[in-house]
Amino acid sequence: MQPIERTEIRSLFPDLSSSELGIPDLTPVDWGVLDYFGWIHPAGHKGFVVLPGPERLFSLSLRRSINHSAKPRTRMCSWCHHVYRSKGTALFSATVRGSDDRRFIGNHICANLDCSLRIRNLPSDPPTYLPETLDIEKKISRLENSVLSFMHRANVLGNLIDNT
Ligand SMILES: [Zn+2]
Repeated sequence: MQPIERTEIRSLFPDLSSSELGIPDLTPVDWGVLDYFGWIHPAGHKGFVVLPGPERLFSLSLRRSINHSAKPRTRMCSWCHHVYRSKGTALFSATVRGSDDRRFIGNHICANLDCSLRIRNLPSDPPTYLPETLDIEKKISRLENSVLSFMHRANVLGNLIDNT
């Protein structure tokens, strides 16, 4: 994705203050290997996603819960299909916009919102437990479609995609 500036990111979350957003230092970010820009608030309970759309950037704010006491079990990230043998995903949930805070959706996603690195085998963490023989281009489009579909369900895409 194209690099984005801090001010641009802030403008995508007009309801949140800069301390609520906790945007990390962008200097070391390697934009060229990212399909979406995701980060975790330093406090650990919130995550944010910025996805480049056809004409503009889409944004999503998420709550993150990590179940530390849960028994280790194999889990797959719903967005990038990276399979973790035990820990590695977290439950991210979003309030459906326009539902008066009554409806929520959730997905198990890579705990650090680093799906783009996972599908490129970039982090030094263990590689996926169940490797797939799928082209990187297909993994990228599947990831983008998953994020877009989650945003669609959270109703944050505005008029870009008709709900009917
Ligand atoms: Zn992932």
